[in-house]
Amino acid sequence: MHPHHSTPDNIRTACAAAQAAAADFAAQPLASRAALLRALANALEAHRQPLVALADRETALGPVRLNGELDRTCFQLRGFAEQVEAGAAQPVQDDPAVAGAPPAGRPHLTRVHMALGPVAMFAASNFPFAFSVLGGDTAAALAAGCPVVVKAHPGHPQLSRDVFALAADCLNTLGLNPGVLQLVQGAGIEVGVALVRDPTIEAVAFTGSQRGGVALWQEANARPRPIPFYGELGSINPVVALPSALATQSQALATALAASITLGCGQFCTSPGVLVVHHDDAGQAFVRQLAEALTLSRPHAMLHSGIRAGFDAGVARLQSRGGVTTVLAAPAREPSPGAHLFATEAATFVADAVLQEEVFGPACLVVWVRDLDETLQVLQAVRGSLTATLWGADADTADNRRLVRAAQAMAGRVLFAGLPTGVAVTAAQQHGGPWPSSTHAFSTSVGYAALARFLRPVALQDAPEWLLQAKGQA
Ligand code: NAP
Repeated sequence: MHPHHSTPDNIRTACAAAQAAAADFAAQPLASRAALLRALANALEAHRQPLVALADRETALGPVRLNGELDRTCFQLRGFAEQVEAGAAQPVQDDPAVAGAPPAGRPHLTRVHMALGPVAMFAASNFPFAFSVLGGDTAAALAAGCPVVVKAHPGHPQLSRDVFALAADCLNTLGLNPGVLQLVQGAGIEVGVALVRDPTIEAVAFTGSQRGGVALWQEANARPRPIPFYGELGSINPVVALPSALATQSQALATALAASITLGCGQFCTSPGVLVVHHDDAGQAFVRQLAEALTLSRPHAMLHSGIRAGFDAGVARLQSRGGVTTVLAAPAREPSPGAHLFATEAATFVADAVLQEEVFGPACLVVWVRDLDETLQVLQAVRGSLTATLWGADADTADNRRLVRAAQAMAGRVLFAGLPTGVAVTAAQQHGGPWPSSTHAFSTSVGYAALARFLRPVALQDAPEWLLQAKGQA
């Protein structure tokens, strides 16, 4: 067996270590948790140069993107440290007792929150820093007071080990239990399945494919004691370009959209996969401008051969699908694929579930619509998406209200300007939409609200004062 493939024993040991560390870590002063998060950010920055070089060798994402991603990772670690210090990890709601008979009369109730315990975290292939060993899910879980067992992604195995070693040093320096962060790895679904099945695991955070995410979500639910599964899966992120937007900024929007489709070689969960546009002269001119801008793009190599094979298969699927025309098939410049643009009618898109599937990579499907009703039907057919973008819907009109309602019904984030790629780390962020874009649309995997996924509310009734003073942390 490969030396870095975790055996069932290794996985059990890692989970047992996390469980053994859980009570003590949850009981640490908040300042200690915040210090850990800051120390992890400092360690990443101190080792930036070798880490970025290694990440580039393993993922081909390029130093500019990877440096930016490392910055983002440190920013969110420090941001969660601030959240911890501000009390976000121990929210309390207090309802004083009311004398008299119920329902108006009541005891003193205080709603507090407890750290869940060990969290299994599946690192993403496409974010070797920001959604991996010390990425957003890990930062949120640690901020909540939960140990984390990371399932490294086989697309960047050495980087995962090196970042993990830095984190282990930080825990050691701060005198914290090494079980607070554990790592398991190995290509093969049995590692992830064993991790989710381990009885010590209390929640799972996952970023990746719909197929993998749904399989693991089923595992989490099939356990004798099911646990929450926070899966952030694929998404096709429709962009609706209304005539009013195209009338004034067609070329600029086409250039920006082409850049978003090809950013990171299209390997973003928020990559715009569907463009909804009116089938009129302005719409056709816009699609020509988009195709021209895509022709000039130079996507880099994809993350690994499996993702490239998936992209090639997705392109072939669209090329051969009835009712779909190929607008652009830029030739591959190996090892990089070429950008692709396809087009279809609204009725075809709505009737064909295959067209509603994500093609992970630099490709987009234009859906021609004739009116608002067709636009709404297209959004409804998408069902669930991380984002929906509405260009030209700023005015308060009855039509725009219908459009916004339809977008809100199927997306976790609705944009009125800009592009869905780029997900700001902030308190108001929502990264998670209705099924199938995520398994839990009520929570976010980006931004500070992500912390709440790893806290469980407990109501304390007529609790003693010492416990209330400690915000319910016994
Ligand atoms: P993936 O295949 O879903 O793998 C993600 C993680 O889940 C890996 O650690 C993988 O382990 C594990 N896994 C996958 N299927 C599993 C199963 N049935 N049981 C247990 N563990 C399982 O994602 P990927 O490797 O990143 O990329 C593959 C495809 O996912 C892409 O082509 C793209 O379509 C999609 N993707 C989507 C996003 C997004 O943000 N929405 C991000 C990345 C990728 P092993 O690899 O070790 O088996």
